[in-house]
Amino acid sequence: MRADGLSFIRQAADLSAHPHISADIETDAYATYILALIDMAYPDGEPIPQWFDFAASALRRIDEGVDAAILTNIAEVQLLAAFGVAPHWEDCVVCHRTDLPLDFSEKYGGLLCRDHWELDGRRYHASAKAIYLLRLFATVPLSRLGQVNVAPTTRRELRVLLDRIYDDMVGATPRAKRFIDQMGQWQQHL
Ligand SMILES: [Zn+2]
Repeated sequence: MRADGLSFIRQAADLSAHPHISADIETDAYATYILALIDMAYPDGEPIPQWFDFAASALRRIDEGVDAAILTNIAEVQLLAAFGVAPHWEDCVVCHRTDLPLDFSEKYGGLLCRDHWELDGRRYHASAKAIYLLRLFATVPLSRLGQVNVAPTTRRELRVLLDRIYDDMVGATPRAKRFIDQMGQWQQHL
C-alpha cells in the first residue's frame, strides 16, 4: 500500500522529466526524501491534490536550481500539520506578541516570546535567523519562493531544529532520510 502511494506520486511528478535531478545524487536524495515524506504523511496512498501540486512544484523548483535542502526544509515544515503536529508559528503562543525575540517550544506547541521563555526550560534556543526562516517556510508557496541564500551555519541549524521537531513531535522519518543524514556527515568531514 505504502509503495503504491509513493509510486503514484513518483509517476505523477515524473522524475524523468527533471534531468538535473537524476543527474545529481544530492538533489536526487532530497527529491526522493520529499516524496517519501509526503507518502509517509498520507500512507493510504490517497492522491491529495494539494500535495500532488506541492511535489510537482518542489521537483520543478529543484530542477530550476533552487536550493534542494531549503525546499526540503519547507516541505518538512508544511507537512507537520499532516502528521498531526501543527506548531503555532504566527506569534507568541501566550501573549501573541511578535515584536520580541521568539523561540520554539515543544511544550507550548509553537513560539514563545522572550517574556515567556521562562515557561519552558527545554525551549530550543534557536537563532533569530532560524526562527525567521521557519516562520517563512510555514506559509511560503513554493511557486513564489525566490532564490534563497542561507548561510551554512543557519542551514545546519535548520537541519538540527527540524530533526528535533520530527524526532520529538512526529516520532518517525522515512528511510530516505538516512541518506540525507549521511550526506550531512560527509560534508562535516570535508
Ligand atoms: Zn509572549
